[in-house]
Amino acid sequence: MKYFSLTILILLIFGCSNTKSTELKSSTKTTAARPNIIVILCDDLGYADVGFNGSKDIITPHLDQLATNGMVCSAGYVPHPFCGPSRAGLMTGRYPHTFGSQFNLMMNSGELIGEGIPLGEKFMSKNLQEAGYHTGIVGKWHLGAVPDYHPLKRGFDDFYGFLGGGHKYFPHQYQPLYQAQVEAGSKLINDYLKPLEHNHREVKETEYITDALSREAVRFVNDAAKNKKDPFFLYLAYNAPHSPLEAKEEDLAKFKDIKNKKRRTYAAMVYAVDRGVGRLVKALKANNNLENTLIVFFSDNGGKIALGANNFPLKEGKGSTNEGGFRVPMLFHYPKDIPAGSQYNHPVSALDFYPTFAHLAEAVIPKEKQLDGKNIWQDLISGNNSHQGEMIYALRHREGYSDVGARKDDWKVLKTKQKPWRLYHIKDDIGEQHDLSKQHPERVRQMVSEVAAWSKTHTEPRWFDPVELENDWKEKNMAEFGNTFQVED
Ligand code: CA
Repeated sequence: MKYFSLTILILLIFGCSNTKSTELKSSTKTTAARPNIIVILCDDLGYADVGFNGSKDIITPHLDQLATNGMVCSAGYVPHPFCGPSRAGLMTGRYPHTFGSQFNLMMNSGELIGEGIPLGEKFMSKNLQEAGYHTGIVGKWHLGAVPDYHPLKRGFDDFYGFLGGGHKYFPHQYQPLYQAQVEAGSKLINDYLKPLEHNHREVKETEYITDALSREAVRFVNDAAKNKKDPFFLYLAYNAPHSPLEAKEEDLAKFKDIKNKKRRTYAAMVYAVDRGVGRLVKALKANNNLENTLIVFFSDNGGKIALGANNFPLKEGKGSTNEGGFRVPMLFHYPKDIPAGSQYNHPVSALDFYPTFAHLAEAVIPKEKQLDGKNIWQDLISGNNSHQGEMIYALRHREGYSDVGARKDDWKVLKTKQKPWRLYHIKDDIGEQHDLSKQHPERVRQMVSEVAAWSKTHTEPRWFDPVELENDWKEKNMAEFGNTFQVED
């Protein structure tokens, strides 16, 4: 809005007829059109656990409405099959292995190691903030729990949420547990019990956490509209439906036909997220901002099957390098450019968001900033494949070996549980049922050698989860890439 006023002022001073003012007018016109950007991230949400991806038992009417008016990405990938590294990749635009963040920051990371995502990695929030965006984060951080790594130090103007890797959901339950630990003099209080904060100030939350985060997201967009803080960038990082499985009675009542108790609770938690998305969209509409706001919705990794998630038709779930681990539900909503009811079936990586948002925001990316994704905006709109001939990777270290999944165009190579490399025609065999490695040994060799070359860009982990894993890592001479990238004849 401030740019718009500036345009009017310039036009008043110079008049509309001379060429100088026309140039100024056209350059400020594009700036004024910069969209607001909202990223809504779920935690451990299964591929099939939203209506727009075919869920039969979980109802998500507001998300489905966004899908109906926007674009569903059927091959949306995240850079790691679990929480912390996936988020680190989202914020930096790089695979987390390349800067030593391939493990979660462990419980009590602030007290135990005082670490966070390296400060040399400029976050997308910082990049947007420097481009004049008003930036906010609501929800889960998990990228550093000590002051140097705080969201307000990484490009956010406003933070409401918690710094750890998760949280309990009912204040009347966790607050007494927290108090008891404080009174017992505990040095390491469980992160899931700690009070939420708003810009360093401890808050006494009263609402079910998912509803609280939705409320704060609405507060942020309303404040931005009222005080002309535009354009804005909001990162709404729900911790739902991550464990602990805790849902409101009224939401559970909606799913009384689901017999499995875990699935019922999980469904109710997803429903609460959907209600929040509905509130946010309603606020954007009321502020006349829905048309000029890009909303991207996805999950940080696949659903955890043991806790009631469903990743059908994908194989496995959270933590796996099968598709169920790192291929996630994803949608884009931006009525100005994205055709309603569209579907994009080429691969999209969450690593693409950094450069894509920078493009939309007309933000300058510093020359020295390394990015593993690319600006996909035009391809997304025109339906072209942004990643033709390029690999999308997932690599997860386990105790003494690594699991890998790497997709290139229609094919995917997979290595899990130290078994030989497998090959799938992932376009036709999304469920990874038919290993074609014996039929196409040369293709396997080529693809594996490409992953091996990529692994050379990795650096040693800066921390381990749990901390003791570091001994195991050293004893087993990890990362053991010699064994990982051996192809059997
Ligand atoms: Ca997660």
